[in-house]
Amino acid sequence: MTHHDETPDLDAAGVVDRLRSTFATGRTKPTAWRRTQLEALRTLLVENSDELTAALRSDLGKGLKEGYRTEVGFTINEIDHTLEHLDTWLAPRPAALPDKLLPAQAYVVRDPLGVVLVIAPWNYPLQLALTPVVGALAAGNCVVVKPSELAPATSAAMARLLPRYLDTEAVAVVEGAIPETTALLEQHFDHIFYTGNGAVGRIVMTAAAKHLTPVTLELGGKSPVVLDQDADLAAAAQRIVFGKFLNAGQTCVAPDYVLAIGDTAKAVEPHLASAVHELYGADPAASAEYGRIVNERHFDRLTGLLDSGRTVTGGTHDRATRYLAPTVLADVSPDSAVMKEEIFGPVLPIVSVPDLDAAIAFINDRDKPLALYAFTASDDTKQRLLTETSSGALTFGIPVAHLTAPELPFGGVGESGMGRYHGEYSIDTFSHSKAVLDKPLA
Ligand code: NAD
Repeated sequence: MTHHDETPDLDAAGVVDRLRSTFATGRTKPTAWRRTQLEALRTLLVENSDELTAALRSDLGKGLKEGYRTEVGFTINEIDHTLEHLDTWLAPRPAALPDKLLPAQAYVVRDPLGVVLVIAPWNYPLQLALTPVVGALAAGNCVVVKPSELAPATSAAMARLLPRYLDTEAVAVVEGAIPETTALLEQHFDHIFYTGNGAVGRIVMTAAAKHLTPVTLELGGKSPVVLDQDADLAAAAQRIVFGKFLNAGQTCVAPDYVLAIGDTAKAVEPHLASAVHELYGADPAASAEYGRIVNERHFDRLTGLLDSGRTVTGGTHDRATRYLAPTVLADVSPDSAVMKEEIFGPVLPIVSVPDLDAAIAFINDRDKPLALYAFTASDDTKQRLLTETSSGALTFGIPVAHLTAPELPFGGVGESGMGRYHGEYSIDTFSHSKAVLDKPLA
């Protein structure tokens, strides 16, 4: 397969046609088939976990424990949760009827959509490719997975392993970059599930519109952390640092910046510095659990943001190894470069606002975040953030963790995306809720 050619050596139509014929036979519909596929995917992850975490390490310098926890283990948990609840989720749901329709019965069934396309990004290249696949298979679909070319080792591992474990007539992995994705996007799919940036999200949605194909767009943006004056700053700093520097900050729901109310901006600085020290030691470059920047383009972009504020900790970097130290910047102006785009790397700016009103106005002046985080001891503050702001998710006291709760929907709103998945929400995404009404003639 060519990766750079304008005309890829890929028969995209052939791949989709093959899966479409499989879907037409009805083979993917029985719950037994779905279970077999999910169990096989689980076995794949268990049997090849060392190879997969090694691939993640090679692509992103991911610590082996972190790679297991956030990618391999994460996907296994999603499979287990799905297997546990699948029968309940797939059972027809009775619907009450208005008196004038009686006697009659009504219920809702979840029909598979057909052939779906999953386009994955590089930052959690395994989890963000396979978690949607879990939902697509559980809902009874055939699926084409397009891993990110920017995580080549993980992409190659998936392309090699998936056909060995899964039904190759129903699941296809297509490796490649823009030409291959473009060729796929010309095909008719029944759903497209895209995770990545909003610019490509627009390309995906435009291509989908030609076929009237519904899309889920899992996008990103700047996720703020509101730091209230009554918060325990030492404890908050530990959790912010953990969520921010995981995967070297290349996490879609990473705290992007701290929105510090009043004097917390100054007061939290030493706590953030010591939390970094505690987590990664005096020299994070030597820590086995601290990741690397995915490529030189992103490395150069990130180092270009370092003069947006005063360095509290970090700031050191090495282009040869794409190492950028966990960095905290203080006195950051809302107009500085680091506040203009999603950071998507290990740079944490602290922006100061006088009070909660200003914090809420700051958030509402910008794109709706994928996640909004807050540390506060005040129920009033929680209530105000809940009712006066809009974001994909809102969490108090701990960033990032919401996505590990499979009963919570995961997705964005506005610029951070559309649609949601995980657990039962994935079944909803990858099926059609069909209304069924059955009324006797007499
Ligand atoms: P990426 O560059 O790997 O792109 C994502 C996918 O789009 C890849 O498969 C790629 O091949 C494809 N692609 C790229 N350009 C294309 C084009 N012109 N036409 C068709 N397909 C194309 O990943 P990325 O976009 O750099 O990922 C980072 C972004 O994703 C960040 O904004 C991040 O916040 C967001 N993200 C969101 C989530 C989420 O779950 N909401 C998760 C991870 C990342």
